[in-house]
Amino acid sequence: MKFISTRGQTPATNIDDALSAGLAPDGGLYVPERIPVIASTQPFSTLAETAHAVLAPYFTDSKLHDRLADICTHAFSFEAPLRPLKNPSAASEQAASERAASKQNFLLELFHGPTAAFKDYAARFLAEALSGLRTPEAPVTTILVATSGDTGAAVAAAFHRRPGFEVVILYPDGKVSPRQAHGLGCWGDNVRAFRVDGSFDDCQRMAKQALSDVELRNAVSLSSANSISLGRLLPQAAYYAHAASHHAARHGEPLNFIVPTGNLGNACAALVAQRMGAPIGEIRLATNANDTLPRYFAGDEYAPQPTRATLANAMDVGAPSNFERLRHWHRDDAELRHAIRAQGVDDATIRATIAAAPACHGIVPCPHTATGLFLLEQLRAQGDTRHWAVVATAHPAKFESIVEPLVGHAVEPPPALAESLARPASAEALPADYAALHAILTTATN
Ligand SMILES: *Cc1c(COP(=O)(O)O)cnc(C)c1O
Repeated sequence: MKFISTRGQTPATNIDDALSAGLAPDGGLYVPERIPVIASTQPFSTLAETAHAVLAPYFTDSKLHDRLADICTHAFSFEAPLRPLKNPSAASEQAASERAASKQNFLLELFHGPTAAFKDYAARFLAEALSGLRTPEAPVTTILVATSGDTGAAVAAAFHRRPGFEVVILYPDGKVSPRQAHGLGCWGDNVRAFRVDGSFDDCQRMAKQALSDVELRNAVSLSSANSISLGRLLPQAAYYAHAASHHAARHGEPLNFIVPTGNLGNACAALVAQRMGAPIGEIRLATNANDTLPRYFAGDEYAPQPTRATLANAMDVGAPSNFERLRHWHRDDAELRHAIRAQGVDDATIRATIAAAPACHGIVPCPHTATGLFLLEQLRAQGDTRHWAVVATAHPAKFESIVEPLVGHAVEPPPALAESLARPASAEALPADYAALHAILTTATN
C-alpha cells in the first residue's frame, strides 16, 4: 500500500516512512492512496484481532508486517466496550417501551487505558510501531508533543521507559485540569513535562518551529506524535469497526456514531472504518464552542478561528488539523457536507447535560462526552429512531473539578488513573519562547 500527501507534491511512500515522517515533506498530511475494503467476516472476539484485520492492508510492505499482530496485542490490550445507555426519560410510555425493546442508545467507552482517554490506543500503537522501526544504532529520538491535556499524557504513558526514546511535553500552564496536569508530570525517567507560560497555540507554534528547524533536526533526532501522524489516526479505526461489527451481528442494524471532535483525528478514523466496510451508518460531529466545523458544515467557507477555552478543553481547536484529510476524501465541499454533519455545544449546555445525565442516561459523562450526549438527545427529540452510539472520549474522573459539583458526588477514578494519581508529579516552567525550547532540546539528548 502506498501513501500520498493531501497536497500532492510528495512522492508516494510506504507506511514505515509515513509513520516516521509524521507530516509529509510538502506540508500536507499522509493518506493511503486508496482505502481498502475488507471482506466482511464474523466479528472478531477481541479488539486486538479486529485491529490487526483493519490495519493489515496498510502494512503489506512494512518492516512491521510480521510483527503487526503482536503490536496490536500490546497496543489494544484493553477493550472498548459498547454499552447500552439507560433510556432517556421518554415523552410517552409507549416511546419508553419501544426504546427499551430496541436499546438504541449506546456509549462506546474508550477510556479504559492507562490515561483514561481514547488517545491511549493510538499512542500505544505508535510507540510500538516506532520502536519496531528503530535500528539498533539509531540515536535517541525525542518525541516532542504540544498538548492541551490528553495527548501528552497518552504519549508519555506509551513511551515511558521505552529504550531509545525521550519525550518532551509542552502544555499551557494553568489551562489544563489539575488531574490532566498530574497526568503529564507524573512519569519522570525519559519523560520531561514543561508548563509553558502561554496558550496551547503558543505550545503548538513552538513545537512546529522545532520540527521545521532544519539545523536542529540535523543535530538531534526529533519526531512528533500529534494527531496528524498516520500512526495516531489509522489504529483508531479499529474500535469503530469492532463495535459496529458486533452491533450489526447482534441487532442486524448499522451503528451510527456521534464523535466529540477537536482536531478531527477520531472522526477521520470513524470515516476510515466506514469506508473499509464496517457496518457504520452516519457519523456526526459534536464540537464545543469552537465552531469552525459547524459553521463549515452549515455552508460557510472553511475559516479557522482563534481557539476559545471551554469546559471540554481537549476539543479547544479553532483550526482542526485533520480537516485536510476530510476534504481529500470527498470530491468537493457539497459531497463532504452531505456525508457528515456537525454541531457546536456551548459550556452552559455541557453543564446541563452532565447534571442531567445520571437520571437521563444512567452515566456520568466527561465534558467532551457530554457534547455528544447532547446531540443524541436532540436527535431523539426530533424523532430519530436509528441506533446511535456516543463516543465516550475520556473518563469523567479526569475532569472531576467540573463534573463532581454538577452531579453532586465524587467520581471514582478507574484503577490505572488512580495509580498515576498516587505518584508524585512535577513540571518545569518554560517561557513561551522558541529559544528556550531550543535550549532544552539540544541539552536533553547530550
Ligand atoms: C483529543 C480529545 C478529543 C478530540 O479528539 P480529536 O481526535 O482531536 O477530534 C475529544 N475528547 C477528548 C477527551 C480528547 O482527549
